[in-house]
Amino acid sequence: MAELTMETLVSLCKQRGFVFQSSEIYGGLSSAWDYGPLGVELKNRIQQFWWKEMTQLHENIVGIDAAILMHPKVWEASGHVENFTDPLVDCKQCKQRFREDMIPEENRVKRICPECGGQLTEPRKFNLMFKTHIGPVENDASIVYLRPETAQGIYVNYKNCMQTSRLKIPFGIAQVGKAFRNEIVTKNFIFRTCEFEQMEMQFFVKPGEDEKWFAYWREKRMEYYHKLGIRPSKLRWHRHGPDELAHYAKDAYDIQYEFPMGWRELEGVHNRSDYDLRRHSEYSGKDLSYLDEETKERYIPYIIETSAGLTRSVLMVLSDAYEEELLPDGETRSVLRFHPLIAPITVGVFPLMKKDGLPEIARRIVEELREQFTTFYDQSGSIGRRYRRQDEVGTPFCVTVDYQTKDDGTVTLRYRDSMEQIRLKIEELVPAIRQSIREYKRVGV
Ligand code: ATP
Repeated sequence: MAELTMETLVSLCKQRGFVFQSSEIYGGLSSAWDYGPLGVELKNRIQQFWWKEMTQLHENIVGIDAAILMHPKVWEASGHVENFTDPLVDCKQCKQRFREDMIPEENRVKRICPECGGQLTEPRKFNLMFKTHIGPVENDASIVYLRPETAQGIYVNYKNCMQTSRLKIPFGIAQVGKAFRNEIVTKNFIFRTCEFEQMEMQFFVKPGEDEKWFAYWREKRMEYYHKLGIRPSKLRWHRHGPDELAHYAKDAYDIQYEFPMGWRELEGVHNRSDYDLRRHSEYSGKDLSYLDEETKERYIPYIIETSAGLTRSVLMVLSDAYEEELLPDGETRSVLRFHPLIAPITVGVFPLMKKDGLPEIARRIVEELREQFTTFYDQSGSIGRRYRRQDEVGTPFCVTVDYQTKDDGTVTLRYRDSMEQIRLKIEELVPAIRQSIREYKRVGV
């Protein structure tokens, strides 16, 4: 099968309504993307899957939704004002701009442009935070930043959450939300954008127990991607070397995925030590220590962070699901093998013909199913075409109503992956679909 390219993915996303270029009718805004009817469903479901995994399945993890705008001192305390920079270099000849740490070693050493061979400028520190002003007067006192990560909203609310939810260490706080970075180079579609969404969980632990919890969360996070149906051969770990470690990190691992352009970071699992809470205590003047009521010990908790990109996960899930399958009859079908829990449409329902009462029965089935599953009704084109269209958008189940339905109340249920069709009673549909979702296994893995 041909390798999936980014061009194929971009055009598929547009044609099928997953992702559109922002402000397209004006020529587009570079590196900003809009999620279309199917894209928003996919994104929401990945988010729900993550949320359940990280909150509902743990009794000691709660959620929050903090504001994007925060007190500017937060970003001084966090180190972002000083350290959240990338090394920016320009080519004196072709004027292209690069992140110095992302150009090939050879070009970096010789200081020549990877595109045209021209001379590169010395690197300048470029702060990635978007600055804006609050209120009508644009002066230094009114500066606020669009948050470059969601984590700080969790740290500054750690005491509020602990007290109101009566949490005891170890515990976690989860959050999903927008983050903004003025990235020097944004390419590869929705992989790296200036506006994106993160899914973060910060886990507060006793110093000395951090290594244990760090190992625990690394295992859990890899398990999560396997549960999501991602091919394990496409996932791997990358441990940060000493020169890659962020200013706050004691140790850091990334989960990487093999995207069409190669292995890239999908999620960071970091041991942030007590850096964040210590700094916020210092800058706010508030005591952010924790008192262990049993041992009477007082300490600043260590934080284990799991930080995944939601919009980047959409790209990952699409890349992973895409397949051009050669069928026994020599035809090729294009299929998105989403896990049924995250597929934008769960069930397609079709009447075999547009007449003889079949549409009415099909509509009644849609009514029943849509309380439980996202359901799509389609009566146009041949039945084969309708199946193909659902394969293309990754719908795992299709139900067809035919003449036999009128006689004995049975329909066909067709499975996307195996293309197998079974005949069952209408009232058996819900349990059959439920069971199939529970037992789902990606084919060929
Ligand atoms: P990089 O070094 O590649 O710029 P990072 O290591 O600084 O990224 P983190 O700060 O660890 O990234 O961010 C956590 C997660 O948020 C990343 O693993 C990624 O999934 C997502 N993410 C970060 N920046 C972007 C972006 N510009 N666009 C989309 N997703 C992003």
